[in-house]
Amino acid sequence: MPEHPPESTQQKLSDRLRYYEDIGIGRFYRDRGPVSTQQAAALAAAPEVTPVVEEPSLPKREPKSALPATVSVSTHKLEPLPVPAGPSLFEAINKIENETLPLIRENLGECTRCKLHKTRKKIVFGDGNPNAQLVFVGEGPGADEDAQGLPFVGRAGKLLTQMIEAMGLQRKDVYICNVVKCRPPENRQPEKDEVEECSPFLLRQIDTIAPKVIVCLGSTAAQTILQTNRGISHFRGEWLEFRGRKLMATYHPAYLLRNPAAKSEVWKDLQKVMAELGLAVKRSKAT
Ligand code: URA
Repeated sequence: MPEHPPESTQQKLSDRLRYYEDIGIGRFYRDRGPVSTQQAAALAAAPEVTPVVEEPSLPKREPKSALPATVSVSTHKLEPLPVPAGPSLFEAINKIENETLPLIRENLGECTRCKLHKTRKKIVFGDGNPNAQLVFVGEGPGADEDAQGLPFVGRAGKLLTQMIEAMGLQRKDVYICNVVKCRPPENRQPEKDEVEECSPFLLRQIDTIAPKVIVCLGSTAAQTILQTNRGISHFRGEWLEFRGRKLMATYHPAYLLRNPAAKSEVWKDLQKVMAELGLAVKRSKAT
């Protein structure tokens, strides 16, 4: 008699299968083999299946940009993004030689640089492989992350984990961090001064890890790193460049929890990332 897996494993498996179905990998288990670069390109170029307009702000967060309208891009798409000119938040920050993540964490210390320190429980510095080829950047910790000191461990985090595993990776293969390292009260959007104090540490983390690809999860991460006030739907899914690295902005997992139809869009973005990283791209229903 074959033994049944424990209930928790069954639940995990069924969550995983539901996620694959949501993103359109209907035949995933029969179709695991690597596909050619041409197929990958065809997948990446597949027509949009769900017309998604704009990623609204996350629950309870103000729909306002973290940055003023006059900031510029230090980043550009392979063709530059038309955004207003002005001083960039990151312009003056050069790569620091012999930097390490523990050193950056040490410099951050028990940070009191902005008001978020007054209400946080734990600093959420970031987690994962210090030599990752792929870095995910979110907005800021929520209640679960604040309690545990780890990024993306709540509901949105579980979805992110599924997305990472669908790519054929594990969380320990990638690095995950946020624009701000302390939880904004009531999960509001981080404010301009908070982003300005915290994002130099994010930049140092990215420079030190030196990933091949950065994926911005949601508009706060994308607008902060790209230094633009343009809505994410204008550039989501397109290859952009940030300090010589490839950057892809996609929707935040919390948005996907509220709008599961957008999962297929995100999956197309992640397939482009997989092709760039040389990971086997899986077929989806959309092709
Ligand atoms: N949302 C984020 O943007 N970051 C986290 O770490 C968790 C939820």
